[in-house]
Amino acid sequence: VKHTAPDLPEMPPCKGSVYINKVGVSNLEQLYIHQGHMQWLWDVDGRRYLDLFAGVATVSVGHCHPKVTEAAEKQLRKLWHTTNIYVYSPLHEYTEKLAATLPDPLKVIYLTNSGSEANDLAMLMARLHTGNFDVITLRGSYHGGSPLTMGLTSNAAYKYPVASGLGCHNTMCPDVFAGPWGGSNCRDSPVQTIRDCSCPQGSCTANDKYIGQLNEVFATSVASRIAAFFAEPIMGVGGAVQYPKNFLKDTYKLVRERGGVCIADEVQTGFGRTGSHFWGFQGHDVIPDMVTMAKGIANGFPMGAVVTTPEIAASFAKGVHFNTFGGNPVACAIASSVLDEDGTQQISHDVGTYLLTELAKMRDKYEIIGDVRGKGLQIGVEMVKDKASRKPLPPAAMSEIFEDTKDMGVLIGKGGVYGQTFRIKPPMCITRDDADFFLAVFNQALHNYMEDHH
Ligand code: PMP
Repeated sequence: VKHTAPDLPEMPPCKGSVYINKVGVSNLEQLYIHQGHMQWLWDVDGRRYLDLFAGVATVSVGHCHPKVTEAAEKQLRKLWHTTNIYVYSPLHEYTEKLAATLPDPLKVIYLTNSGSEANDLAMLMARLHTGNFDVITLRGSYHGGSPLTMGLTSNAAYKYPVASGLGCHNTMCPDVFAGPWGGSNCRDSPVQTIRDCSCPQGSCTANDKYIGQLNEVFATSVASRIAAFFAEPIMGVGGAVQYPKNFLKDTYKLVRERGGVCIADEVQTGFGRTGSHFWGFQGHDVIPDMVTMAKGIANGFPMGAVVTTPEIAASFAKGVHFNTFGGNPVACAIASSVLDEDGTQQISHDVGTYLLTELAKMRDKYEIIGDVRGKGLQIGVEMVKDKASRKPLPPAAMSEIFEDTKDMGVLIGKGGVYGQTFRIKPPMCITRDDADFFLAVFNQALHNYMEDHH
């Protein structure tokens, strides 16, 4: 069905050579997007798509959300920019509002322009504060593409053959589905925060084994003391991987015992996306020393932040930190209006739980769906050759289902180290009807694939 966007002009088809910043891991036939409204996108031919990827969890409250657009327009007429050595009301108001969402002692805010920049800054602060150099991340994670954060990122698809990652180490991702430890007990309920919390407290051998891997990294790779541990509360690019209960809690303890600080990368999971909590780390019963954020912070307007403790900030205050655009008045006004938007966390919880429940039924129906996991509107569907082997569904098969889903009008994402996980992270304004539309489309795409290949 062709749906017409409100003011779609005549657009010539794209001819000749254009520079396209195409995401390397996706072979989605290039869409030429013209316009967005809330959970919808229109291409230049007037085709409408339900956007369940939202620029990778970035359009948090909806494309061109009227209230956010109004806040931006108002600020654009008042003040675009001034050096942020001055205070101005959007900055003042926003930082107060943001700080109020975080527990003590996370009250000092540094504003940046992207997630990579936020993680770069967090790494620098951790090293200065602790006097240590080594940093540990989880294998399969993505924390940025800048020269420093490329070292934190542990996925070869995003690495270049240049020197990077000095002092950066990875520990095994505690993936209870595809990793060596876990198993069927770890996926009894698809709607759990943490995969294997059905096991009695303290009896999780999978967690112990993954923590054992971390201890090996301490013993074999870390010089003596550690500067920081970075992890997302639920992996994003890595494929919505959730960790065994207590994994983050135990890790934070071990890292702190070795002099390090713990950093929660909330670039994807923050701002209510996980449904049950505003911040993903709150689902793990931990308080990080630093929280980094971006993407959904400003509904797609370039912005990022590091929030930390007064103590760490004091160590950092020994030098001069300057960032021309960080805390830009328009960005702050937009981010402020995002925080004002009511009900998004509830939508994440309600529609997300519904999606997870229905997708889990599809998992039981289709041999090629290995795992359905996530929380709220941070969802992963891991595709496999077959349930017994849990081997990744090959890229060509993933693409076929992905393209078919797109051709039926729904945009989803792909992730995981082998590109084997479909990712669903829509704007937090989607409805149950949208979820039903997606479920019907996805079911049809899987049915088509199975008919053609089995
Ligand atoms: N951290 C995470 C968890 C991310 O998903 C990303 C982006 N995919 C980044 C950091 C880097 O953010 P940016 O692209 O804004 O630099």
